[in-house]
Amino acid sequence: MTKIIDGKKISQEIKDELKAKVLSLKAEGKKIPCLAVIQVGNDPASTVYVGNKKKACEYIGIGSKSFELKEETTQDELIKLIDELNNDDEVTGILVQLPVPKHIDEDTIIRRISPQKDVDGFHPMSVGALLIGEDGFLSCTPQGVIQLLKRSNISIEGKECVVIGRSNIVGKPMAVLLLRENGTVTVCHSKTANLKEVCKRADILVVAIGKPKMINSEYVKEGACVIDVGIHRMENNKLCGDVDYDDVAPHTSYITPVPGGVGPMTIAMLMSNCLKDA
Ligand code: NAD
Repeated sequence: MTKIIDGKKISQEIKDELKAKVLSLKAEGKKIPCLAVIQVGNDPASTVYVGNKKKACEYIGIGSKSFELKEETTQDELIKLIDELNNDDEVTGILVQLPVPKHIDEDTIIRRISPQKDVDGFHPMSVGALLIGEDGFLSCTPQGVIQLLKRSNISIEGKECVVIGRSNIVGKPMAVLLLRENGTVTVCHSKTANLKEVCKRADILVVAIGKPKMINSEYVKEGACVIDVGIHRMENNKLCGDVDYDDVAPHTSYITPVPGGVGPMTIAMLMSNCLKDA
């Protein structure tokens, strides 16, 4: 029987644990973390994400500062703000909502955030620490996937894990985290030959391709666990993932739905990163 992994419920559990942690920090008179969120321009999807991040800070009881900069903001102006926040002792985490407008170089911005405040885990120092197993901020979405697996009692050790997608924010850190959990990891991408055959080997298949419903049951081993990171809005305004859920679900032991699977975990893990050193 297929079990549906309830990301909404698991993310709520995590947020409640974090809320309790903040309460005890307050009771002990310790410093409460504060997240600075910067948005440049007014991309509607980014506005929703930024709003949700602020709400999550409020919910768990940490501080938040938001900076809504106009589309025409120059790279130098953005850098100046990041430098100020890097030096602001009250601010413990800094996040620049991506994508930034085209006239701003994303890599330069990511590198400008102090690695000590890099709660998105995108700075090369954070990525390097992840790779060699040192302490550092972990990228939120892949970290959320690991939590979904662990909290659903799905063991990773010794399992054939296939990740489709090799982006810096999902696919690559996902592969490293699965490796850290002692999975046997294969990473597939747009140039992979025999994608279906490779995917069919997977006990745990993590899909982060960015192509609506591309993965159907022909890619899935009977009884596999399928984690769908993809998120797309369809013409009928409903959301779907990179996995053709209705076709794939009957063949799985566990599957994440879209919405309500990986999506809610990303913010929960961002909050967890905000409290990492508290
Ligand atoms: P991306 O476009 O940066 O990367 C996609 C990857 O898929 C690439 O590495 C590419 O090689 C691979 N790919 C593309 N076509 C392929 C094909 N035909 N066969 C095999 N591999 C192929 O995307 P991303 O930022 O990693 O995001 C992936 C998906 O996850 C998107 O749908 C995105 O919206 C979603 N996402 C969700 C969350 C969340 O919180 N749930 C967070 C980040 C991204």
